[in-house]
Amino acid sequence: MFETEESCVRYIAMIRWPKGLKCVKCGGEKAYLTARHLFHCRACGWQQSVTEGTLLHRTRYPLKNWLEVAWHIFEQKHGLSALGAPTRDGLW
Ligand SMILES: [Zn+2]
Repeated sequence: MFETEESCVRYIAMIRWPKGLKCVKCGGEKAYLTARHLFHCRACGWQQSVTEGTLLHRTRYPLKNWLEVAWHIFEQKHGLSALGAPTRDGLW
């Protein structure tokens, strides 16, 4: 599940913004993931990091190392049934 940095980013985004990503600048709800793993708002071009303001920001470890830990915490807290698969492509 957490094989690539991108899948990690999408997973974190799903946890942080369970109702969908909202641009902090313009409130736009459509964004795509850039090659640098930032969400790029289609409306205003603002780029937002999913890890901004979290413990994971500027971590020198790959996100998947953190997620493997977080996954176990999350799983215990909510149970697997609370999880939807973060497979939606591109749009929120
Ligand atoms: Zn925007």
